[in-house]
Amino acid sequence: MNIILLGPPGAGKGTQARKLVDERGMIQLSTGDMLREAKTSGTEMGLKVAAIMDAGELVTDEIVIGLIEEKLQGDNGGGFIFDGFPRTLAQADALGDLLKRNGQTLDCVVEMQVDDNALVGRITGRYTCGSCGEGYHDVTKVPAVEGKCDNCGESNMQRRADDNEDSLRTRLMEYYKKTSPLIGYYYAKDDLKSVDGLAAIDDVAGSITAALNGGDIIGNG
Ligand code: ADP
Ligand code: ADP
Ligand code: ZN
Repeated sequence: MNIILLGPPGAGKGTQARKLVDERGMIQLSTGDMLREAKTSGTEMGLKVAAIMDAGELVTDEIVIGLIEEKLQGDNGGGFIFDGFPRTLAQADALGDLLKRNGQTLDCVVEMQVDDNALVGRITGRYTCGSCGEGYHDVTKVPAVEGKCDNCGESNMQRRADDNEDSLRTRLMEYYKKTSPLIGYYYAKDDLKSVDGLAAIDDVAGSITAALNGGDIIGNG
């Protein structure tokens, strides 16, 4: 089963993707993670996109489509979770073509609905374990021992350069201008399920499971 998690920055896509990886053996394809990796390892492409990402703008379709194309060649395990991709209509069309070419289908697009007012708090409180990738939050998800990862035990917490209010404004504008039309696009294709992303992490996970099992969630079922 191949699925897309769709929602604004801070909606909880990465958090839910990791749970699906653990629970269903799915493979998370996060273009944000891939781009950050390129940025830290200092590849030519990474250097090219660094300033764009820090400002909160979208990098070109060509770059992210190339990244996804590469990953789709590999094993798809329990299915792919597209996290933070597609973000434009051109990317959505390209994904459809790539899947078709590989004899695969897109089974469900899960829209995570979150109030804009909640996003500032989500983004400014976010940090991640640099060793294993587990996500945390200053208020809603704190590790048992401060600064130490519950998952791998390392003390290597990191905050993203773009997780500040200024960059979030730009990212939200990019989301509304370029990404939110995908909600209508997938609704029209009959692939869309919407879940309440404001609920507690485990409750959101329950709604996503129900959506993937074919249930009616907020009403688009
Ligand atoms: P968030 O977790 O806030 O939704 P991501 O980690 O998905 O953010 O993305 C971080 C940044 O990487 C984006 O602001 C953008 O600059 C770039 N990026 C990630 N995915 C894409 C994409 N599919 N298309 C264009 N730019 C992307
Ligand atoms: P995205 O990948 O959509 O940008 P994340 O999964 O990184 O979002 O979540 C953003 C922040 O909000 C993280 O710090 C995460 O721990 C926290 N978070 C995620 N889901 C929830 C939730 N349902 N309730 C409260 N906090 C959450
Ligand atoms: Zn860790």
